[in-house]
Amino acid sequence: MQLDIPYHLENFIGGNFIGPLSGNFIDNINPATGAVYGQVPDSNAKDVEAAVKAAKKAFPAWSVMPVEKRFTILNKIASLIDDNLDTLALAETNDNGKPLWLSKLIDIPRASSNFRFFATGIMHFSTDSHSMEDKAINYTLRQPIGIAGCISPWNLPLYLFTWKIAPALAAGNCVIAKPSEVTPVTAFLLGKICKEAGLPDGVLNIIHGVGPHCGEAIVKHPEIKAISFTGSTRAGEHIASVAAPMFKKLSLELGGKNPNIIFADCDWDKMMDTTIRSSFSNQGQICLCGSRILIEESIYEKFKTEFVKRVKQLTVGDPLEDNKQGAIVSKMHFDKVMNCIILAKVEGGKILCGGSATRPEGRCAEGYFIKPTVIEGLGPDCKTNQEEIFGPVVTLQSFKTTEEALQLANATQYGLAATIWTQDISKANQVAAKVQSGIIWVNCWLVRDLRTPFGGMKDSGVGREGGWEALRFFTEPKNVCIQF
Ligand code: NAD
Repeated sequence: MQLDIPYHLENFIGGNFIGPLSGNFIDNINPATGAVYGQVPDSNAKDVEAAVKAAKKAFPAWSVMPVEKRFTILNKIASLIDDNLDTLALAETNDNGKPLWLSKLIDIPRASSNFRFFATGIMHFSTDSHSMEDKAINYTLRQPIGIAGCISPWNLPLYLFTWKIAPALAAGNCVIAKPSEVTPVTAFLLGKICKEAGLPDGVLNIIHGVGPHCGEAIVKHPEIKAISFTGSTRAGEHIASVAAPMFKKLSLELGGKNPNIIFADCDWDKMMDTTIRSSFSNQGQICLCGSRILIEESIYEKFKTEFVKRVKQLTVGDPLEDNKQGAIVSKMHFDKVMNCIILAKVEGGKILCGGSATRPEGRCAEGYFIKPTVIEGLGPDCKTNQEEIFGPVVTLQSFKTTEEALQLANATQYGLAATIWTQDISKANQVAAKVQSGIIWVNCWLVRDLRTPFGGMKDSGVGREGGWEALRFFTEPKNVCIQF
C-alpha cells in the first residue's frame, strides 16, 4: 500500500477521512528545522460527537465478533505496520525530531508488536470461576466496556498510541483516540493502515486536536466509559477531576523523576553504557529515563569523570543523519528545558557539560537542539531534583549508605521507574522492595516484556497497563452466581 501524507491531515471517523467540522487547523512543525510542514485538524466537541456516533454504530457487531476474527484483523494491522516501517519511521522523525535510526529500531517495531501482542493475547484471555462446594458456582464474565477514550503524548507517538488502542480493540471495545497535536502524522497513517487491514468502520476513530478543545471533549463525553491517558501529571490531575465524578474507568500514566542508583560493586562497563542510554535516549524525553543519578560516594569522582567524557562524545544534530541525539520536540518544550537549566544554575548547580542550545549547520540551523547536560552540586529538595524536566538533563548526587540511597531515591512525589546497579543480589532485592516505583530494573534499563504490569506509583499515575492488566482495564467484570 502507498502511505501518502497530505499537507492537511484529516480525522478518521466512521471509516472516512474528513477535515475538522470547524474548518480550523493548527501548524505542524518539524522540530529539527523549525519549519511548518503540515496542518493538523483543531477538532472540538462536535468532531468527538461524530466519532461517538460512529463508534456506537460499530460496537454491537465488533463486540461480539469471534476473537479469531478480531485476531486476524489486528494481526494484519501489525503486518502492515511492519511493511511500512520506512515510511512510518521517517514520519515519526520529521514530527518528533528523534533520530531516524531510533524510530526504525524502537518506535515503529514496538507499534506493530503492540498489535501482535494483544491480537494473540485476546485469544488466550480467560476469566475465573469460584465454586461454593455443593451450593453454587460463580463465574466472571468480562465484557467490553463500550467506547474507550485513548489519549497519548508526543514522546513515543505511535508506540504509546498503539499501546492503548490495541488492547482496547482486542477486548471488543470501540475507540476514540487522540494523539498529541505535536506529533500527529503516524496516528493519521495508522487510520489508513486500519482501513486497509479491514477494521470495520467506526471501530477505531482517530481525532486530532489540542488538549483543552479535543482531549477534554473526549474525557467529558458521557458515552465514553473509560479513559486511558498517558501524559503529564498536570493534565492527568485535571482529567481525573473531570472523569472521576462521572464514574469513568481511569488509567493514568504520568510523569517521572526516576532515580538511577549506582553502587560501587556494579558491573562498571555495563552500568556506564546503559546509564548513557537511560539518561539521554530520545533526548531524555522518555518517561522512564533516569534523570537523577545517585552514585555511591567511593566511586563518585570516577563515575563523574568517565560519564562526562562519554556524554561530551554524544553527537547532536540532524536526526536524518547518523547522530546520537536529535531535536527537542517543540519550541515550547525547548524553552521549558532551557529554563530548567537556568533554574538549576540559580539553585547553585554546577554544569559539568552541556547546559546550552546548539545549532547544527545546514537544514537544521533553525531547529531546537540542546546539548546533553550533566549537573552536580544540588540537594534532593531543590526544584531541579523535584520536578520533571523531560529533556537531556541529568543531575548527579552521592550517597554513603544504602539507607541514604533509598532516602534520595524516594525523595520526590513521583514513582514511575528506578534502576539499581549492584552485583550483590541481596542488596538488589532489598533496595528493589523499598524503592517507591512501579517499575524497577536491576542491572539493566528498558528491558520490556509486554506481559508485565506497567505504570507508576504516587504522582506517576493510577492503574497499570500491559498484559492481562490492560485487557482487564478494558473489560467490565460481571459475576454470575448459579445456585445448584
Ligand atoms: P501532556 O499532558 O501535555 O499531553 C498528553 C496528551 O494529553 C496530549 O494528547 C494532549 O493533547 C492531551 N491533553 C492535554 N490536556 C488535556 C486535557 N485537559 N484533557 C484531555 N487531554 C489533554 O503531555 P506531553 O507533554 O504530550 O507528554 C509528556 C509527558 O508525558 C511527560 O510528563 C511524561 O513523563 C509523560 N509520559 C508518561 C508516560 C508513562 O508511561 N507514565 C509515558 C510517556 C510520557
